[in-house]
Parts: sequence; C-alpha cells; structure tokens
Amino acid sequence: MEFRDLKRQYQYLKSDMDIRIQEVISQANFIQGRQVADLETQLTDYTGTKHCVTCANGTDALQLALMVWDIGEGDAVFVPDFTFFSSGEIVSAVNAVPVFVDIEPDTYNIDCDSLEALIQKVIQEGRLQPKAIVAVDLFGQPADYERLRKIAEKYHMYILEDAAQGFGGRIGERKACSFGDISTTSFFPAKPLGCYGDGGAVFTDNDEWAALLRSYCVHGKGSSKYDNVRIGMNSRLDTLQAAVLLAKFPVFAEKELDWMQGIAAKYTEQLKDAVKTPVIKDGFYSSWAQYTIRLSDRAQRDGLQAYLKGQGIPSAVYYQKPMHRQAAFAGHGYDDGDYPVTNMCSETVLSLPFHPYMTQEEILMVCGAVKQYVKG
Ligand SMILES: *Cc1c(COP(=O)(O)O)cnc(C)c1O
Repeated sequence: MEFRDLKRQYQYLKSDMDIRIQEVISQANFIQGRQVADLETQLTDYTGTKHCVTCANGTDALQLALMVWDIGEGDAVFVPDFTFFSSGEIVSAVNAVPVFVDIEPDTYNIDCDSLEALIQKVIQEGRLQPKAIVAVDLFGQPADYERLRKIAEKYHMYILEDAAQGFGGRIGERKACSFGDISTTSFFPAKPLGCYGDGGAVFTDNDEWAALLRSYCVHGKGSSKYDNVRIGMNSRLDTLQAAVLLAKFPVFAEKELDWMQGIAAKYTEQLKDAVKTPVIKDGFYSSWAQYTIRLSDRAQRDGLQAYLKGQGIPSAVYYQKPMHRQAAFAGHGYDDGDYPVTNMCSETVLSLPFHPYMTQEEILMVCGAVKQYVKG
C-alpha cells in the first residue's frame, strides 16, 4: 500500500497528461510558456483572487510575500509551532524573528488566544515590531480567519496564509488561498494539488504587490529581465509543471475533493471509537492533505506505527519536532512551557495512508489494523 498513491492517479490521468507533457516538449517552451499563464488564470478563477503568481516552490512563495512587505531585521513574524519547517524558515531567511505560537488541540491550527498573548508580550518587550502572522491551513483545514483578521487589524499586522496543504479547502463558500493579505500554496507532489516536481504559487488582490511579486521572482526585473531594479530571486514555475497541473486541476476540483470527503468520512466512521479522529469545524471544508489521528501517548503512537509497518501499511508523523525545539531556531529564547499542545501532539499524532484513489478494501484494512492494535 502507498501512503499517497501518485502512480494510481497517473494511470487515471494518463491519456490527457501524456499529450500535455509531449506538447511542451515538442514546442520547447520550457520557461514561461503559455501553460503557465493559463494555469494562473484558472487558479485565480477558482480561488476568487485577483492575482496568481506562480513560482518555483511553496517555500519561495512564502518568502516572496515577506519580501513584498519588506519584512526584515527588527520585525517579529508569528508562526504556529506545529507545521512544516518552511513556515518559520522564511522568516529567518529575511532576517526577521519567528515567534512560535501554540496550536488548537482539535484542528492543529494556530491558537488565537496564545497568539494575542504573544503579540502583547513582544510589544511589551519593545525589542521587535510585530509585522505579520503566518497562518497555516494544516492538514487541509483552513485556520480561523475570522478571529485572525480581528487580531491582525487590532495590531496592524499582515496575514500570510500558508495554504501549502490547504489548496481546495474552504470556509463557507470562500476558498483557501483567498484568506491572507497574501496567500501561498505548494505544488510539491504529495500536496493536495501536486505537480511532478517542485512548484508553488502566490495569491493576492493587491495590484501593487502582484507587480512586485512578478519582479522579485525574476531577478528583481524592471521593464525587462535585463533591467534589474531590485534584488530578487530566480523562482518560476516550469512550463512542464504548469502542463501537469492543467491536467490535474479539473479532476482535483471536480472529482478528487469529493472522493476525499468520502474517504475521510469512512475513516472517521471506522475509527472514532478507537482513537482521536480529525475534527473539522462547522462550516469548514478540508482538502485532506493528511488524515491524522492521535493516540494516548508516545508509546502507543510509536507502537502502532511499528505494528502498521509490519502489516505493510505506511504511516507518517507530521510533525516529530515542534518548531521551537528545532536547532536552526536556537538562540531566540523560546519557553518550552508556552507550547503544551504542540509538545503533546508531536508525541501522539500519526497520519494514515490517504489519497483520492484509495479503495474501500484498503480503508477497511488500515482501520482494522489500527483497531486491532489499540484494542491490545
Ligand atoms: C510543503 C509545505 C511548505 C513548503 O512547500 P515546498 O513547495 O515544499 O517548498 C510550506 N508550508 C507548509 C505548511 C507545507 O506543508
């Protein structure tokens, strides 16, 4: 069994996919081909945003946003403690300071009470200026943007929505990638909408920021790419990857998202009495980047993972180490006592095999094994 079966997905998409890939190779328009612009148009239509600027990966997408806002030395950026390394890495990469924030135990997203307490602490200390909140849509579920927006307005901060795992999610009718002042996603193969390599995108309604993004991602270009008016980076989405995404996107939007709701519902029906199953808030819709359960303690989690492995069932721990404990962020004086929920989750979570092409038999096999182990 595969954790995320991209081979099965390819078999489903093969006829259209092969034609589209071959077309790029035949036309040899590998950089900034028409497919890139087509994809950007489709993604703005879908997310309901004004601008989509594709780039080389989801990490660059986040960093480009901080560059547009001119965030740097002396600035504090608030980031959930339970996320992929990138969400904090980009803050240090522009010489600002990441302030990690504990999460909600049910959704694994940033906890707004802890966030506000830490913003006030930073203001009181007076050393750093609070500038932005990186709100991560973890495992596919959007963060609580209604509350985040109130906090951001109160303290005059930007919201950067990290929807690397959240593309396809929504709150009510409003789609992920439209909640931030700038929002980003990743097309890494295992993400909800993945390409066949690295890729990413940045979304915003702000014309001025969109123009800056287009400049920063092509060496700070001015009127042409040989007129360089600022220091930027080389971060473009390959035409081949855009072609792959054009083949995948309609199937993702029209079929895979629905299939995943059904698979998640089946998992939860089977597992809800045995383990802590995912909680999706009322009115929220997850794109199911991961199906993550929680066990009673580290021994039970590690034991279950080993047991599943013995049965030929892959699983993964997202995330083993809270951000505030990463060696790369040492020296910022984080207080381990500020992160009780993240610390608990890092010891007890386990993500199960999950993808739109799972069969009922596979789901039942995974659930049977989990229940068997937990029962002892
Ligand atoms: C995957 C991921 C990223 C980074 O995306 P890449 O395309 O791999 O650079 C950033 N944030 C989160 C939450 C992610 O899961």
